[in-house]
Amino acid sequence: MADLAGELSRALPGMRASSGEADRVAYSRDLWPRHHLDVRAGRPAEHRPGAIVWPSSTDEVAHVVRWARERGVPIVPFGAGSGVCGGIAPREDVVVVDLKRLDRIRRLDPAAPLVEVEAGFMGVPFEQALGGAGFTLGHFPSSILCSTVGGWVAARSAGQCSGAYGKIEDMVASLECVTGTGEVVRLRRRQSGPDLVPLVVGSEGTMAIVTSAELRLHPAPACRGFGAWSFPTTPDGWEAMRALFQAGLRPAVARLYDPFDAMLAKQGGVKKEDAKRSRPTTGARSRSFGGVALRAVLRRPGALNELLHSRVAARALGGAMLVVIFEGTDEGAQQGLDEARTLCESMGGIWEGEAPARRWLAHRYSVSYRQAPVFADGAFVDTMEVAARWSRLGDLYEGVRRALGEHVFVMAHFSHAYPDGCCIYFSFAGSADPGLVRELGWDAACAATYDRTWKAALAAAVESGGTLAHHHGVGRSKAPRLRAELGHGVDVVRSLMHAFDPAGILNPGNLLPPPSSDSPPPPSPSPLGLDRDSLLACIDATTELPAAERQLHDAGLTLDLGASLPSLSLGDWLARGAPGARDRWLDPADQLLAGLDATLSDGRPLVIHPAPRRAVGPDLTALFVGAGDRFGRIDRAWMRVHRRDATRPTAPAFQLDRDPPVSDAERGLLDAITRAL
Ligand SMILES: Cc1cc2nc3c(=O)[nH]c(=O)nc-3n(C[C@H](O)[C@H](O)[C@H](O)COP(=O)(O)OP(=O)(O)OC[C@H]3O[C@@H](n4cnc5c(N)ncnc54)[C@H](O)[C@@H]3O)c2cc1C
Repeated sequence: MADLAGELSRALPGMRASSGEADRVAYSRDLWPRHHLDVRAGRPAEHRPGAIVWPSSTDEVAHVVRWARERGVPIVPFGAGSGVCGGIAPREDVVVVDLKRLDRIRRLDPAAPLVEVEAGFMGVPFEQALGGAGFTLGHFPSSILCSTVGGWVAARSAGQCSGAYGKIEDMVASLECVTGTGEVVRLRRRQSGPDLVPLVVGSEGTMAIVTSAELRLHPAPACRGFGAWSFPTTPDGWEAMRALFQAGLRPAVARLYDPFDAMLAKQGGVKKEDAKRSRPTTGARSRSFGGVALRAVLRRPGALNELLHSRVAARALGGAMLVVIFEGTDEGAQQGLDEARTLCESMGGIWEGEAPARRWLAHRYSVSYRQAPVFADGAFVDTMEVAARWSRLGDLYEGVRRALGEHVFVMAHFSHAYPDGCCIYFSFAGSADPGLVRELGWDAACAATYDRTWKAALAAAVESGGTLAHHHGVGRSKAPRLRAELGHGVDVVRSLMHAFDPAGILNPGNLLPPPSSDSPPPPSPSPLGLDRDSLLACIDATTELPAAERQLHDAGLTLDLGASLPSLSLGDWLARGAPGARDRWLDPADQLLAGLDATLSDGRPLVIHPAPRRAVGPDLTALFVGAGDRFGRIDRAWMRVHRRDATRPTAPAFQLDRDPPVSDAERGLLDAITRAL
């Protein structure tokens, strides 16, 4: 094995680097539960890197990248390693670049308000620093204790308060990145495009290393309003959630628990006994009574799932439960809660008081750390976050629940709602399929069951019209299924990687399936028409905007583009960056369009299915919206439509040039993408 740390230290004197065994083990993986199964099976560090380096400035990151490019050494950016999809799985010839020493707030502009923060800043101290200045980012992933700003951007993360503040992609004003050539570039968001930021957000370390981000801030909330309602069934609950978001209400937190998950949520967070309970076992399986019982239950999960999913069980468990938290000014939070209460109760919700929402807030990060004892007991747990527009949410819920339920015990909650759809967060626990244990042994049988479970569930997600990932990203875990969702989009992402990183040194093997010679079947075009449940309309791009608006008007809907509609076709208007459209920062939970069908310049069709939000690599709509016809043309677009009588929410004011000039570096990248496509 080459002495990569020694080489790095000689080439870049003063830079901290290590090839020590402890460091190599520590940086050999992220928190993908599949890795945990390897650890339990006695293989703690299958993917040890050759060296780890800790740059402390953007210049040092650029030096590392240039050195790696010249030497042909692959590099893997590392935030805090809390990813759960296998985004970190290096090899002996790889250098891991830990960004955590880039941990400064470079600038806080209270007037905008805006912060520029380096990529390695950890979540909790970052929010504390902002809170001290009277602001919040509004981004609270459950992993906030163990994740970095750069990791959030790279994985297209979502926080618990996305209902008011949106996902990370809705917060970025600009990114400073080091591309695979070692060039330092500043990419700025532009209302009217071209906009390269959405291509790097979600690129999971494969296109550029994010070194700092300018992020939009909000005033720290002065007040919170708490509420909870029970509903007879889970669909009753999500209908109420849909009604809330489509009525223009924006609870920062809105979480609907299915009856079993609701029963657990009502009990509160981690109990003290849980922490004391099972000590990690040295062998592959715990012999404790709890462990034996757990494995026995999980060996035949089908019957248990069916029982708990029945109407009788739903009633016995107390039904589904919706928890909301509004935040903002005293008046705003209370008014939001009052309106939500009227709406939920008109839809059959029974007021459960403030306590469940307050309890959730008190334990908001606890539940995520309950996994270790289950692994120690010889079983496994994992989570899967998928999303769909409202009209497909029922299919997605049933499809994925059934697919998972054949292999593992499953429960769900619905968090991250938007006017056009919602994310479903499945939690599941499984054990080795008894049929495989004799043949493979316990741990290998567990791993095989785990793999089967994921394969079935991801197939079900795509078949039922959902997206494979809402906020955890793709990594290596979902990469083999990516083509099922993106079709030719996979090749487009590969071309983007080539444009940003021509030598292919950045996190190779992550995000994309291995190149295949099969050409995917041409995607079917999106059906034109109105999806009233999701308030989306799929409109032909040649339709003139006034004509589209007239048709919507007859249905009581509008594109809400103001009185003077440009006489442009929808496609031309989008290609120009939707001039005159409402600024998306006024309502971060909403979006202008949910998907599109396009034809790339070389004639290949690209279909980006509608989703309220997703985390399946770069946002490819940015290649068309505001980009003119540089990369191709839009054929159809899934536009967000609004009820004519609806009031649209407005977030606190901000002052920032939303259409800054395009820099030479950005122009260079746009040209590189044109060549690569
Ligand atoms: C208990 C738990 C709860 C979680 N809850 C949430 C949640 O609520 N919401 C959510 O969105 N996610 C959640 N996650 C997933 C995870 O925390 C997020 O994906 C997070 O954004 C990863 O950040 P990180 O700094 O740990 O990145 P890492 O895990 O270190 O890296 C993630 C990926 O991004 C790349 N990367 C990291 N930093 C950079 C950079 N600066 N530039 C370029 N590429 C980079 C890496 O190469 C890797 O591919 C949870 C995870 C755990 C373990």
